[in-house]
Amino acid sequence: MYLHGSSKINAAGHLEIGGCDVVELKQTYGTPLYIMDEELIRRRAREYRQAFEASGLTFQVAYASKAFSTLAMCRIADEEGMSLDVVSDGELYTALKAGFPAHRIHFHGNNKTPDEIEMALDAKIGCFVADNFIELQMLQAIASDRGEKVNVLLRVTPGVEAHTHEYISTGQTDSKFGFDIQNGTAIEAVRTAAQLPNLELLGLHSHIGSQIFETDGFEMAVERVAGFARSVKEQLNVEFKVVNLGGGFGIRYTEGDTPLAVAEYVKAITDGVKKHFEGIAAQLPEIWVEPGRSIVGDAGTTLYTVGTSKDIPGVRKYVAVDGGMTDNPRPALYESKYEAMLANRAGDANEETVSIAGKCCESGDMLIWDVELPKPNTGDLLAVACTGAYNYAMASNYNRIRRPAVVFVKNGASDLVVRRESLDNITGNDVIPARLEKQGAQVK
Ligand SMILES: *Cc1c(COP(=O)(O)O)cnc(C)c1O
Repeated sequence: MYLHGSSKINAAGHLEIGGCDVVELKQTYGTPLYIMDEELIRRRAREYRQAFEASGLTFQVAYASKAFSTLAMCRIADEEGMSLDVVSDGELYTALKAGFPAHRIHFHGNNKTPDEIEMALDAKIGCFVADNFIELQMLQAIASDRGEKVNVLLRVTPGVEAHTHEYISTGQTDSKFGFDIQNGTAIEAVRTAAQLPNLELLGLHSHIGSQIFETDGFEMAVERVAGFARSVKEQLNVEFKVVNLGGGFGIRYTEGDTPLAVAEYVKAITDGVKKHFEGIAAQLPEIWVEPGRSIVGDAGTTLYTVGTSKDIPGVRKYVAVDGGMTDNPRPALYESKYEAMLANRAGDANEETVSIAGKCCESGDMLIWDVELPKPNTGDLLAVACTGAYNYAMASNYNRIRRPAVVFVKNGASDLVVRRESLDNITGNDVIPARLEKQGAQVK
């Protein structure tokens, strides 16, 4: 298993993260446990900031909070000077409750409800990233009722789609998101937004995909968005103050993954902006990006306890842990690959190839197919690396399994940032109608 950030093997042969021995973390917090390397999160945030500072452009780095949204994470994003993307009332509530400055919050999504829009306006968030014509009219109507103006970016689809290694340049992008540049929808949206009196049209937004390992997709997107901005200026005399180029910067999950340094992605974007936006308006636009995965992904490790195993001679050996698709649905959803190690026997040599199963009633509940490990015994600790993004965020209570706790580790200290769910949490929202109550006995 690749050791990210502060992860190392200590003298006892145990995995240590942020100066904390994971065997001790298990004793304190139990398993499964999400362990987040706080310094690595902060380092990633600073890499973005420093790369933008080096470009000389005005910028915002907005953390896409959907990757891992908790109160403590919002505090770190604020302390590191990031802005914040939210996509629902729940993410907005989390940010506001953490005291995140509302003017640095951007509201995304293809189906914002009127209630969510009202809530965001009450909080005085920085802007909405508008996705479709119905939303533009809804924003106008609500803002007008309130006698307010709302800041808006228009999400456009530039006809560049990134699928990790390859880019597909499509004539008309088949996506539920945004206004298409190539078929003329995007310019129609600019015309509409510019005429709606309660909208302040700040700029454009584009997001081309996720877990991207090369710069050419971003370069293509910048070029196309700039070309669009130029024709908008020529045809409608509308200028944009802000261009948001989205997220999607890749990280290393396994050996085959070859991400670039943060500074390289940022340089490709800022160089492209300087080249292609020159002369469209009096000034170059302010550049925003929205990294999610690349801020928190490699900072996360999930710690499990090994339970049972099943050896099918000549076929495969299954080793089951006390979590699974409930805390990490990505292998089941996307066939995502992960690396693992026996965290309490990190010095032992690998002896066999096994497959790591979860405990859910689903054959597809597998975390890793074919990983080399020392022979796992019941009670050993299994660490899976790179689980900081879209793991806790996508966790479920399938099989009524309780969601794990999350701890931040740093300089030898650990802090609980999400408590493990209790059994009472599991039934906490259930209601028994009177007619179903068990006669003569109180259900405990
Ligand atoms: C998901 C998403 C992001 C973050 O993507 P990552 O791959 O986690 O960096 C940024 N912007 C938008 C609009 C998104 O939907």
